[in-house]
Amino acid sequence: MPIIIDKLNYVYSPGTAYEKHALKDINLVINDGEFIGLIGHTGSGKSTLTQHLNGLMKATGGTIYYNGQDIYDKDFSMKWLRSKVGLVFQYPEHQLFETTVYKDVCFGPKNLGLDQLEIDVRTYEAIKLVGLSDDLLDASPFEMSGGQKRRVAIAGVLAMKPEVLILDEPTAGLDPKGRDEILDQIAKLHKESNLTIILVSHSMEDVAKYADRLIVMNKGSVAFNDTPHGVFAYYKELEAMGLAAPQVTYVMNELKLKGLPVNTTANTVEEA
Ligand code: ADP
Repeated sequence: MPIIIDKLNYVYSPGTAYEKHALKDINLVINDGEFIGLIGHTGSGKSTLTQHLNGLMKATGGTIYYNGQDIYDKDFSMKWLRSKVGLVFQYPEHQLFETTVYKDVCFGPKNLGLDQLEIDVRTYEAIKLVGLSDDLLDASPFEMSGGQKRRVAIAGVLAMKPEVLILDEPTAGLDPKGRDEILDQIAKLHKESNLTIILVSHSMEDVAKYADRLIVMNKGSVAFNDTPHGVFAYYKELEAMGLAAPQVTYVMNELKLKGLPVNTTANTVEEA
């Protein structure tokens, strides 16, 4: 069932000098199995929105329906929601703390109270899904490269068997090779599973290549919600939102590679 976000609002520190209306009347539908790129300049509201999707933050207005249920109903289990909507934070490797990869990946399933066989199966499967060899299960995460550590952290979320995987800036701080590897792995994961993926980024470049649909946030609102091709027709507006100019050529090339027409004159709202 799709996730329905209905007139969602969030205000930080209401009634104080620090009051900030971070989400303004967000209406969105996220369908099962979609690969969504959630983009926007720093401070546009991406993290605030994703933290609502798995119940870490509670809206000050509006609601979200998951599996047809209002997540703010008193009978709705937030613990269940958190197991279904996996959130991989920025720099997730900072949250690794166990002495072996195995212990780190199985931490979540263990807390679900599953039996040992199920815990082991999930751990092996998750490690495979992120493209790591199971030889590494006994290794210390602290001896691994930045990209490998990040995969271990993602495996820890996948071991919970979520239906939706949200990755907040999964390429932050990685070199270009590490960045391509992790994005390719995420794309492979999407192809091989029926996971819904929400890839959060401030970079057009990272998301345009993989996402079926782009949701562009600007100042707490949804500015665009369309295919990469549809959104990119508004590239002048995207540039004005701080989605950097050098990315224009890149995205144009990606569209050409996908065989989509590129209309270089479609640069205003009226024309597009
Ligand atoms: P993004 O993930 O797109 O960078 P955020 O969701 O983190 O954006 O932030 C949205 C807005 O809310 C920004 O203006 C930010 O400064 C503000 N904000 C984020 N966290 C807090 C907080 N804890 N207290 C007050 N304002 C916050």
